[in-house]
Amino acid sequence: MAGEPQSDCLFCKIVSGDIPATVVRESETTVAFRDINPQAPSHVLVIPRVHYPDAASLAAAEPRIAADVLEEAGRVAADEKVDGTGYRVVFNTGSGAGQTVFHAHAHVLGGRGLNWPPG
Ligand code: 5GP
Ligand code: ZN
Repeated sequence: MAGEPQSDCLFCKIVSGDIPATVVRESETTVAFRDINPQAPSHVLVIPRVHYPDAASLAAAEPRIAADVLEEAGRVAADEKVDGTGYRVVFNTGSGAGQTVFHAHAHVLGGRGLNWPPG
């Protein structure tokens, strides 16, 4: 069922604690943890506890939780002290855009110059 934990999903296993992660923030609806392969000095993933394959399907089904993800992304940026210099919040959507984990997640990237447009 949509929103239920998926047994084959890496990020559901991080939510349940079956796979360890360096968690930096938690809320009732979200978990934020460091990316295992950081692309910037600060690279944190913010995920909903519920399983949806991407940001758009999360927002369609659970708009308040999608808003929680964005709010937590802002809090992560402040905690990481990248809010002053600028940071980027990215939702890769679809394999053609580089999505590899099909549980909605926001990348919060900062701590270096970020080119526009991204590659
Ligand atoms: P995507 O490519 O789907 O937008 O982002 C998935 C992200 O998850 C990648 O940046 C990747 O480095 C990260 N990732 C993959 N496996 C793990 C893991 O086991 N632990 C953590 N912390 N991050 C992971
Ligand atoms: Zn999942």
